[in-house]
Amino acid sequence: MAGVTYDAVTRRYPGSSRPAVDALDLDVADGEFLVLVGPSGCGKTTSLRMLAGLEDIDGGRIRIGDRDVTRVAPEERDIAMVFQNYALYPHMSVAANMGFALKMAGTPKSEIARRVAEAARGLDLAPYLDRKPRGLSGGQRQRVAMGRAIVRQPQAFLMDEPLSNLDARLRVQTRTQIASLQRRLGVTTVYVTHDQVEAMTMGDRVAVVKDGLLQQCAAPGELYDRPANTFVAGFVGSPAMNLLTVPVTGDGVRLGGIDVPVERDAMRDAGPTVTVGVRPEDLRLAHDGLPLEVDLVEELGADAYVYGRARLDGTEHQVVSRVNGRQSPARGAIVHVAPDPERVHLFDGGSRRLG
Ligand code: ATP
Repeated sequence: MAGVTYDAVTRRYPGSSRPAVDALDLDVADGEFLVLVGPSGCGKTTSLRMLAGLEDIDGGRIRIGDRDVTRVAPEERDIAMVFQNYALYPHMSVAANMGFALKMAGTPKSEIARRVAEAARGLDLAPYLDRKPRGLSGGQRQRVAMGRAIVRQPQAFLMDEPLSNLDARLRVQTRTQIASLQRRLGVTTVYVTHDQVEAMTMGDRVAVVKDGLLQQCAAPGELYDRPANTFVAGFVGSPAMNLLTVPVTGDGVRLGGIDVPVERDAMRDAGPTVTVGVRPEDLRLAHDGLPLEVDLVEELGADAYVYGRARLDGTEHQVVSRVNGRQSPARGAIVHVAPDPERVHLFDGGSRRLG
């Protein structure tokens, strides 16, 4: 097995004004599960296809292990790709689909049968080996696509939105299966999704991309607790982090009437305004706090999301707070909320994290 390295990799489609992938630097460790996540059109699929050898590279280099594969043909790269539409052969049985690449590579029949049986056991597909894909559920087809990748024992798995054709319940179930399977096999995996929950629950690390540019690559907890900029802050977590732009007064920051504790070093780099970030669960009901006029309450049982409007320095801001479900206020009420001082994020005018 091997790690994967993108070294200043750029792809500019002919006729487009900006690169689809712009000088991407990324190191995926041997055995790591790395998720590429970002909104539609940010360049995730292009990044994956360049690694697979299915897309031209206009600048930079890609390595798999010690090998520079930038100009190596796809079939020589020793990787296996799992697509969102599974791309199974409809006329072949599950076993034949799973063993097809090995057969093409001239692997002996007995070896193919052994590897297919082993993968099928790990994927709960053993009872279905003689069926055709049309006789399988969506989740089973997806597992056959995984099995086809596994039997090849590649250096790396590349997965492009493999769960996007499954219904919500099956997605959750299958994502835990894929994540635990990957950990068991220890095969370096690059996984593309636009779903931040999928990214956060599956990845050892998550690379957040926007407009072809890598914004931050970190472990899920780090992304959540120390987002590098307002884009990552708003993209990761649901409901999104509250981001409130306020003027800097003296050497401090005030949110309504409340002092926001800031480190002196952080303020050195701040401009005339800063953006204060507070996650909904860190904005709590309080006696003295920011007045919030409640527009909507979403009851989730144990918790409730309270959406409302707060006035800061003459500007109205939409704010959301997560409260105990038993304390949820009524629509139209005025409540007070205050940020947990330990959990306030600060960003400069250019949206970069301060401190
Ligand atoms: P999605 O989640 O919608 O699949 P993505 O993040 O995977 O999006 P890409 O498919 O990599 O994004 O596309 C990145 C950018 O490159 C987009 O602006 C897209 O329109 C453009 N693009 C993709 N493929 C081509 C192509 N073959 N020719 C020209 N432009 C393309």
